[in-house]
Amino acid sequence: MPATGLHAIDQKLVDDLLARGSAQRRALAKTITLIESVRADHQQRAQQVLNTLLPHTGQAIRIGISGVPGAGKSTFIEALGIWLIDQGKRLAVLAVDPSSSVSGGSILGDKTRMELLCQREAAFIRPSPSAGSLGGVADKTREAMLACEAAGYDVIIVETVGVGQSETAVAGMVDMFCLLQLPNAGDDLQAIKKGIVEIADMVVINKADIDPKAAQVARAQWKNALHMLRPTSPNWSPPVIMLSALHKEGIAEFWAQVEQYDAALKPTGEFAARRQRQSVDWMWSLINSGLQQFFQRHPRVRASLVTLSTAVAEGRTTPGAAAHELLANLQH
Ligand code: GDP
Repeated sequence: MPATGLHAIDQKLVDDLLARGSAQRRALAKTITLIESVRADHQQRAQQVLNTLLPHTGQAIRIGISGVPGAGKSTFIEALGIWLIDQGKRLAVLAVDPSSSVSGGSILGDKTRMELLCQREAAFIRPSPSAGSLGGVADKTREAMLACEAAGYDVIIVETVGVGQSETAVAGMVDMFCLLQLPNAGDDLQAIKKGIVEIADMVVINKADIDPKAAQVARAQWKNALHMLRPTSPNWSPPVIMLSALHKEGIAEFWAQVEQYDAALKPTGEFAARRQRQSVDWMWSLINSGLQQFFQRHPRVRASLVTLSTAVAEGRTTPGAAAHELLANLQH
C-alpha cells in the first residue's frame, strides 16, 4: 500500500483525477459513484479518497442556484456555463434534488437537460444523487463538490429546486446563493414566507424578455423586500438583477456581480470564515445523524422505543419524560 494508505485501485483514481489528462473525467465520475455508494466498504474507501484529495480543494467559487420548476434554471446554467467556458473557465454542475428519492421521479430532470453544455469538454455535469434523505443527498453533493474542486474546476454550480428545505441545505454548502425568480409578484411572497430571502446573496429575475415592465416591477419589489431584511453580510447588499437566459442577455452582468461579491468578502476574511463555519456545521450534522443511527440501533432503546412512542401518542406519558428515559439507556 502506498504512503497515503490508499488501495492501489484508489490511488490510481486519485492520480488520474489530479492529473487533468484524458482519464480525468472518468476518474471523477468513478469517484463520485464511490461517494454515492451506500455500501460500507465503499464509504470507507470514499472517505480515504476524499481525505487524500482535500489539500487540492477549495480553489473554486461555489455558487448555489435555486428556483421553482420552470424558472429557467437549466437554461440559465447552460447559458452561463457556455459563457464561462468561452472565458477560459472549467465548470462543474451538481444538483440537490430530494424529490428524486421521495417520489421516484426527479424535478430537476435528467441528461436531456443542458445538451449544449454537456458537449463541452470543460463542463462536468452530474445529476443529483437519488437515494436517501435530503441531508444524505446534500452530504453526497458536498463531497462530489470537493472531488470536482480537486479536479481543478474553477466554478462549481449547485442547482436545487425551490421547494422544501433543499435551498437551506444548498446555501449551507456554497459561497454565494442565488435565487432565480420569475417576473411575477406571487413568487417573491412565496420565498418570503418560506424564509428563503434571508439566505439569498443575489436575486435574479429571469425571463425579463417576456414582459420587461413586469420584470422591473418584480425587481423593485424584491429590492424592497431585501432592504427590510438584515443582509447576509455587512459588506454586501444582495443585488437584484434581470436577465433573459433564453436570449443569453444579462449573463455578463450576473458574473460581474459574482466577482464583486468575491472582491467584497475575500479581503475581509468573511469568505474563509463562511467556509469554516460550513465545514464545522457539516461535521455536526454528520455527528447528529450518526448519533441518531447509534441511538436507534441501541439494544435497550430498541426494546422500549415502540412502547414509549405509543405511550406518548396516547397521552399516557409526556414526550419529555419518554425522551429522557430513552436517552438514559445510552449512559449504561
Ligand atoms: P427549470 O425547470 O428551472 O430548469 O427551467 P428550464 O430551464 O427548463 O426552463 C423552462 C422553460 O422556460 C423552457 O421552455 C425555457 O425555454 C423557458 N425559458 C427559460 N429561460 C427563459 C427566458 O429567459 N425567457 C423566456 N422567454 N423563456 C425562458
